[in-house]
Amino acid sequence: MTMQNSENITPATDEPVDVLGLQEFRDRSMMILGWTAVPFLFPFFIIHFIENRYILACLALALMLILSANSFSIFKRKKQLAPFWLFYIVLLMLLLYLIHAMGPDTLFWCFPILFAMGFVTERIIARTLTAISLLILIPFSFYISTFEFASRFVLTLCMNCFFSDILVGYLINLHEKLSGMAVHDPLTNALNRRKLDVYLTEAIEETKRGFGPASLLSLDIDHFKSVNDTHGHEVGDGVLKAVANILHKNQRRLDHVFRIGGEEFLILLRNTKLENAITKAESLRISVEENDLVTGQNLTVSLGVASYKEGETSNEWLARADVNLYEAKNLGRNRVYPEKL
Ligand code: GH3
Ligand code: MG
Ligand code: MG
Repeated sequence: MTMQNSENITPATDEPVDVLGLQEFRDRSMMILGWTAVPFLFPFFIIHFIENRYILACLALALMLILSANSFSIFKRKKQLAPFWLFYIVLLMLLLYLIHAMGPDTLFWCFPILFAMGFVTERIIARTLTAISLLILIPFSFYISTFEFASRFVLTLCMNCFFSDILVGYLINLHEKLSGMAVHDPLTNALNRRKLDVYLTEAIEETKRGFGPASLLSLDIDHFKSVNDTHGHEVGDGVLKAVANILHKNQRRLDHVFRIGGEEFLILLRNTKLENAITKAESLRISVEENDLVTGQNLTVSLGVASYKEGETSNEWLARADVNLYEAKNLGRNRVYPEKL
C-alpha cells in the first residue's frame, strides 16, 4: 500500500524561540561580571581619588555604578538598566586613559575585554563596538609604543577578535538549531507542548488588550489506528506528516500548529472569531478528505472549535476545544463541531 503527499513538509513559520535562554546566559554573564568587577574597582577608585587623579577616579566610579545598577536589576529579574554600549564606552575610555598613563604593557587588557564582548551582548552590538575599538586602538598602539610592539599587538588582537567572533557565531547557530529542535516535533515539524502554554497565554493577553478574539481548533485523525493496522506504522507516519503539511500550508504567519498527541493536532488562530474559525476548520477538513492521503482508504479528520471566552484559563479553553472534538466524533466523525453559529 502506498501513502501519497507525504513529502515536502513545509517548515513551520513560527518565530525562533529562545527556550535555551541565550539572553538569560548573557544577562547572567553580565551579572557575574558586575559582582566580581565592583570589588576590584572600588579600591582603584579610592586610590586614584586620594592621589588626585580625578578623571580616572570618576571613570572607575561611573563603571562601578553602571555595573552595580545592571547586576542589581538582572538579579531582580528585570532588564539591564543601562545599555551595554554605555557601559562599554566608559570602559574603553578608562582603558585608553590607563594605557596612556601606565604605558604599552597595559594594552594586554584589550585581549580579554574584546574576547568577552560577544558573550555578554547581542552580536550586532558586539561587532560594532569591536570595530570601533579596533579603529581607536590600532593607531593608539602605534602612537604609544614601538612599531615592532604595536605590529605584534595589532596582529594578535585582530586574531583574538576573529576567533572570538567565530566561536560566538558557532554558539548562536547551535543555540538556534537546538532551540528549534526543543520545541518542534521531528516527524511533523509542528510545535510540541513546550510552547503551548506560552503561546496560549500570549493569545489570551492579546484578547485582553483588544487585539480581537482568538480561536482553537482541536483536530484528530479518524480511525487512524486502522491505517497503522492495515498499512503499517511507516505509512501511518507518512499520513501524520501529510496531514501536518496540509495544516502548515494553510497556516497564516500568526497561527501556530501543535502536535499534542499521537494523531492529535491543535491549531491556534489569533485574531479569529468563532465564525471564521469554523469556516477554517471546515476547509481543513475538506482538504484532508480531498487529498486522498492513503490509497484505497478515505482518510478524514474531526475538529472541535472553541473561541476564547473572557475570564477563562488556558486549560479551560483547551478543554472546551477537546469537548467539541469529542462531540464531532460522537456525531459520526469527518465533521466540525460546532458546525455553524
Ligand atoms: P478515533 O477516530 O476515535 O480517533 O480513532 P483512532 O483509531 O484514530 O484513535 P485511537 O486513539 O484508537 O488510535 C490512535 C492511534 O494512533 C494508535 C497509535 O498507535 C497511533 N499513533 C500514535 N502516535 C503515532 C505515531 O507517531 N506514528 C504512527 N504511525 N502511529 C501513531
Ligand atoms: Mg483518532
Ligand atoms: Mg486521538
